Amino acid sequence: MKKIITASLSLLLGFLICFLPSPARSRHSDTLRTEVILLGTGTPYPDPKAAGPATAVIVGKRVFLFDAGVGVMRQMNAAGLPISGPEAAFITHLHSDHTLGYPDLILTSWIMRRTAPFPVYGPHGLRRMTRLLLAAYSEDIHVRTYGLEREVAGGYRVNLHEIKSGVVYEHDGVRVTAIPVPHGSWKEAYAYRIDTPDRSILVSGDTSPSEALVRGALGVDVLVHEVYSPLHLATENRPGGKYWPQYMREFHTSDVELGALAARIKPKLLVMTHVIRMGSTNEDLVAGVRKGGFSGDVVVGKDLGRY
Ligand SMILES: [Zn+2]
Ligand SMILES: [Zn+2]
Repeated sequence: MKKIITASLSLLLGFLICFLPSPARSRHSDTLRTEVILLGTGTPYPDPKAAGPATAVIVGKRVFLFDAGVGVMRQMNAAGLPISGPEAAFITHLHSDHTLGYPDLILTSWIMRRTAPFPVYGPHGLRRMTRLLLAAYSEDIHVRTYGLEREVAGGYRVNLHEIKSGVVYEHDGVRVTAIPVPHGSWKEAYAYRIDTPDRSILVSGDTSPSEALVRGALGVDVLVHEVYSPLHLATENRPGGKYWPQYMREFHTSDVELGALAARIKPKLLVMTHVIRMGSTNEDLVAGVRKGGFSGDVVVGKDLGRY
């Protein structure tokens, strides 16, 4: 009963605040602040200091997740974000480094008291991946539902949307637009542009230099872009190692190429993520970006960095 009274009071209070004529601190002064949090800046290499690729865009208290690399739920928690799931999740492409945390995202958020599906957007093949992951964990789902954990039946579900280019999400002032990008032999990979009431952000996903991305990103506040350093790029003595330089050039974007893209996009801030270093330092990466022609603000992203 006490709970009900408290809930009713806070509801009433919320209602009053919404309609109080207080321009200095309207409901929107809290909800409008947009922030980018890099949850994981890593690559397939299991670097203990860099979790798998995942970026959160926070609009007030609303959480939008881009990719779900390994460690995503631990990083959400470390960033102080809700662990019962985001408002929506967006997958750039189906490479394992971007999706190894996907079963973690859907199952752990359920165990942490998620009760309703959240929407997930991504390329074709994501529906099949989701179905097969849930099949792979079916024993777990059964025990957690019907054993003494008594998790909410069906609470692990997500609403899957296999997308094409264009606006894929628009709700309450937040618009997400998918931009197809070239990523080597992948048939489908997307960058996402996020427009909120106070900021615009572009999350590149994995891509080689992309004209569509430049067009879609023109003038954004924050450009979050993948990068590799070409300084020490060479063939390697391992299976597939002779294709390594060719792979980098066809699938990814060098710091110099990124500098040239950013010089045209003119973001207020360039944040490098998914950093394939091959021994290069932060200074090397920034020097590459400068060499490419970008003279604006640039940072090498780090895990849990806020921008
Ligand atoms: Zn990747
Ligand atoms: Zn990739």
